[in-house]
Amino acid sequence: MRVHDKLVKEVVSEVVGEDVLPLIAYLKGKRNISEFTIAESIDIEVNEARNMLYRLHGMHLVTYHRKKDKEKGWYISYWTFNPSRVVELKDRLHLERVAALKERLRREEQNLNAFFICTSMCSRLEFERAMEYDFKCPECGTLMTQQDNSKTIEHLRARIQDLGRSGAVRTG
Ligand SMILES: [Zn+2]
Repeated sequence: MRVHDKLVKEVVSEVVGEDVLPLIAYLKGKRNISEFTIAESIDIEVNEARNMLYRLHGMHLVTYHRKKDKEKGWYISYWTFNPSRVVELKDRLHLERVAALKERLRREEQNLNAFFICTSMCSRLEFERAMEYDFKCPECGTLMTQQDNSKTIEHLRARIQDLGRSGAVRTG
């Protein structure tokens, strides 16, 4: 399966971390590469490579099998990158992003113009929470002002719509 490099970088760095990108770049298009070869090829310690591989494995981005080394008598793991998982994760990240925005939108709509914001911008609270603090910012004590959140709602709706368009969420 061919997956665009840019997508691989985006998804892998988001779910595992940027530090593993050289390892993925090396492993891409290869099969069953030992952790020793991987470490040597990208010039890191074997333990470091293992740590990265386990993290990738935790997200099912790599698979491995273990084989006993006849000479040394110990087991060596051989690793393969699983690019189709990148596509799955991309879809999942996308769905999570949309769900989080929808949840925020729901909160904003439920509390229409009932948010209170500190004039120094250190906090923003729903009406009931603000009341608990006597409408004073819990951070700096400044009196909070009621906020018209219709712009926020508009902005969130637009973002959800945009994501819906760019989504291409696979359903099967
Ligand atoms: Zn404040």
